[in-house]
Amino acid sequence: MPLSTEQLPALLDALPDPLFVLSESGRYLGVFGGSDVGFYHDGRHLVGQTLQEIMPAEKAAEILKQIATSLEQNRLLKVEYPLASSEVRGLEGADGPGEMIWFEGHVQPFPEPIDGERAVIWIARNISERRQLEQQLRDASVIDPLTHVYNRRKLSAELRRRFEEFRRYGEPSAVLMLDVDYFKRVNDQYGHSAGDDVLRMLADTCRGQLREGDLLSRFGGEEFVILLPHIGVGPAREIAERLRQEVSRSEARVTISIGLSEIRAEDTHFEASLKRADDALYEAKRGGRNRVAVN
Ligand code: GH3
Ligand code: MG
Ligand code: MG
Repeated sequence: MPLSTEQLPALLDALPDPLFVLSESGRYLGVFGGSDVGFYHDGRHLVGQTLQEIMPAEKAAEILKQIATSLEQNRLLKVEYPLASSEVRGLEGADGPGEMIWFEGHVQPFPEPIDGERAVIWIARNISERRQLEQQLRDASVIDPLTHVYNRRKLSAELRRRFEEFRRYGEPSAVLMLDVDYFKRVNDQYGHSAGDDVLRMLADTCRGQLREGDLLSRFGGEEFVILLPHIGVGPAREIAERLRQEVSRSEARVTISIGLSEIRAEDTHFEASLKRADDALYEAKRGGRNRVAVN
């Protein structure tokens, strides 16, 4: 037997995601469904109140704008927005997720006026888990899994940005390429996993020496590249020298060679400075290792 009209209220209340009927001016005309406190808070008491009364002004304004857009374009509008129960008057302390929830709203114009006003149906779905996964994927795409420093992809993007900055505003940036000395011996003597530990320790030591805004990246194998914005080779040389000393004294018990360069006016490509740092690194190796060379 199909559902009867009498069952419709029960059906609305059993909707897995909350459904709001909102007037063009922001009044809650109806609130249904979304009763699972693992995902939602009970918002039924909101009926009769307005967005402006129960939410921070800028969030209410945003939602009003989206209602207007859906009505104007007369179509289903999809929006994503964060909202915490603590931001909604009357929901503070209510059962439900304590943290910020990310919602996906589906907004559809209601076909006829209610109380003389245009209105929309707004279905809000909790997509926090998906957002979190997306964030993890975004992080993973730029982070090296072994050392948790940035990877080469991030370095490229950042170096390109610094190159543009130099060309536009003359803002300098220094580039350090560093490579572990005789790293093969570490692997040969202590095993590959001990070698991995050394790389992690090295990354930690470097991280400890850098400032906010500096970019530490694993370039490959046991090579790292550090991008130092706002400084040229002069001050960068001191940082490189300090880094070299810190590593030689660290529990990693290895030494590093560092090649140093900077973005220059004659560079025709954003990676030119990286190539020079690589050449300088070769010189540092040739000069006996555990040293800094500038190019
Ligand atoms: P040099 O002083 O000339 O740099 O000598 P080296 O022994 O460090 O020479 P090279 O740079 O050619 O060797 C790098 C070695 O690093 C080779 C490779 O087995 C090892 N390696 C690369 N990636 C990893 C890694 O992720 N983990 C470990 N344990 N070893 C790695
Ligand atoms: Mg090496
Ligand atoms: Mg190497």
